[in-house]
Amino acid sequence: MDIHEYQAKERFRAAGIPVPPDEIATTAEEAEAIASRYGGMVVVKAQVHSGGRGKAGGVKLAKTAAEAREHASAILGMEINGLTVHKVLVTPAEDIDTEAYVGVLVDRKRQAATFMVSPEGGMDIEQVAATNPDAILKLTVDPRYGLLPHQAYWLANFLYDDPGLIKQTSRIVAQLYRSFVDSGASMTEINPLITTPDGDVKAIDAKMSIDDSELFRRPDVAAMRDSSAEPPSETKAREAGLSYVKLDGDVGCCVNGAGLAMATMDLVKYYGGEPANFLDIGGSSNPDKVVAALEIITSDPNVKAILFNIFGGITRCDDVANGIVEATKRIEIQVPIVIRLTGTNEEAALRILEDAGFSAYTSMDAVVEKAVQLANA
Ligand code: GDP
Ligand code: MN
Repeated sequence: MDIHEYQAKERFRAAGIPVPPDEIATTAEEAEAIASRYGGMVVVKAQVHSGGRGKAGGVKLAKTAAEAREHASAILGMEINGLTVHKVLVTPAEDIDTEAYVGVLVDRKRQAATFMVSPEGGMDIEQVAATNPDAILKLTVDPRYGLLPHQAYWLANFLYDDPGLIKQTSRIVAQLYRSFVDSGASMTEINPLITTPDGDVKAIDAKMSIDDSELFRRPDVAAMRDSSAEPPSETKAREAGLSYVKLDGDVGCCVNGAGLAMATMDLVKYYGGEPANFLDIGGSSNPDKVVAALEIITSDPNVKAILFNIFGGITRCDDVANGIVEATKRIEIQVPIVIRLTGTNEEAALRILEDAGFSAYTSMDAVVEKAVQLANA
């Protein structure tokens, strides 16, 4: 689960990290009122679950409250990477000397939280990694001990030479690690961490993703979910009890079981196709779930063919077949659907589907090959 910058900043403040004050506006008038309360220069920032807001025109400096109102009016309703902006953050503008990058994420290879810091902040860290990898220091934290003081110092010392800046930054990275662990985060980032002409170190941007598996035991964190800021397809999938991840290909996949879903995606690639999504409809064959799955898959304009791959155990193939027939009555589907069903009640399922005019198969290879052909045609 992603949270907004303003929510991540609240968690940072709670951990003691210096973050300038801010307020949230949902209208241009509110933004103007906040700006005039602060007085002086402010920054108006789009609150969306996406990076690169600056480049997309979603971060603007305003010299006056009237200007803040104009910027807010332009930013509210704007689309950034397919997400609509419903809220803006208004914060006093900072004088910036330098911009650094500080991030922590769970590194799967090292199986532990790993810091990444770079004095080249502000921009994409991926870009720094590609063009100037020596400007990034990585440090893995042993979960048994946490971040040790000398490690915090080591990170800070990579960013700055000045002892005052190093001292403040050592404290900030330790606080960031606490916030990361206490939030159940899988990733958190300060980009940029700035230094000011007065010699202060502050976080002026904040990003955090929470591990979904941590939410059940952290109701305060779970309460930060903003469904209106999530891709509509993912909200719909979560509400319908489906595991769905959108991908970039054109073969829509609807599978029961995560393992079979992964194997299906591999086979799509093997036959020269690209999966449009990962979708696990789970163990139940409730027709409503199948309808929701088809609605989600067909709402992706890239999808050229839909592939069902069902291995019937507890899931009864005839229930899934009925769900597919029901779904195509409720929604108009413009792309071909190919179906593979095998296992419990497979004969009945194949009869239902053939009567309704679908191509149904029992072989996984055959159906995947067919779906890829249809998508590429
Ligand atoms: P992002 O583009 O989504 O990462 O948004 P950021 O909050 O990181 O803002 C992008 C850039 O805008 C920063 O790297 C800064 O250069 C600039 N910026 C943001 N806030 C301020 C501020 O208070 N003062 C100044 N001078 N620049 C700012
Ligand atoms: Mn940023």
